Amino acid sequence: MEDINITVVCDNNPYKDGLETKWGFSCLIAGPEKTILFDTGPGGSLLSNMEKLAIETSGIDAVVLSHIHPDHTGGMESFLEKNADVAVYLPRSFPTKFKHNIREYGAKVVEVEQAIEICKNVYSGGQFGKWIKEQSLIIHTERGLIVITGCAHPGIVNMVKAAKDLMKEDIILVMGGFHLEWAGKGKIEKIISSFKQLGVRYVGPCHCTGEKARSLFEEHFSRNYVNIGAGKIITLADLQ
Ligand SMILES: [Zn+2]
Ligand SMILES: [Zn+2]
Repeated sequence: MEDINITVVCDNNPYKDGLETKWGFSCLIAGPEKTILFDTGPGGSLLSNMEKLAIETSGIDAVVLSHIHPDHTGGMESFLEKNADVAVYLPRSFPTKFKHNIREYGAKVVEVEQAIEICKNVYSGGQFGKWIKEQSLIIHTERGLIVITGCAHPGIVNMVKAAKDLMKEDIILVMGGFHLEWAGKGKIEKIISSFKQLGVRYVGPCHCTGEKARSLFEEHFSRNYVNIGAGKIITLADLQ
């Protein structure tokens, strides 16, 4: 596989000047045989940030929606208005109306239950969780697995552990929302030590991870902490 290139299109944390930083998350994965948009950010930000980052909607083959919350699905319709020639991977539990609406645009809906391959080296971790169902994106690289989460509502450690069990490979990077905004220091440190036990090498917590957790991750991972915000680009060369 050629080099992986992950561009954070939407995040409420700023990184590159001039991009919108409303609450939400979206990133683009280029390099594998399919170019994949993971989540679509809040309504209104996706297309304008894509334009500022010189990302063409027409170059995208698949959209993966982590979970139903509007800060991850808000840009879906505006995207489909530009490019409906995509397969949209979503947790099977999504409302029928939502799936129907996507099909109305002419896009293909892929309902995810178990972990599945999206294209060579890229997988959905499968539908997780009891209340808010969510899927992660797993990229298999020559340096290990990259796991990307939207909000990690089912628990970030559960989702990372499942990815490792599924792929039976080491994890080079975990990035995305870890949902620790309201977590106490003790809980966050327990999660950090679970990450270390699981052999996670790099972390890029953003979106709903919260400032306290982000700084604790930075403290514990030091140079292996990836500072993520809107406009950040990550390649394998950043993960040495
Ligand atoms: Zn969110
Ligand atoms: Zn959420």
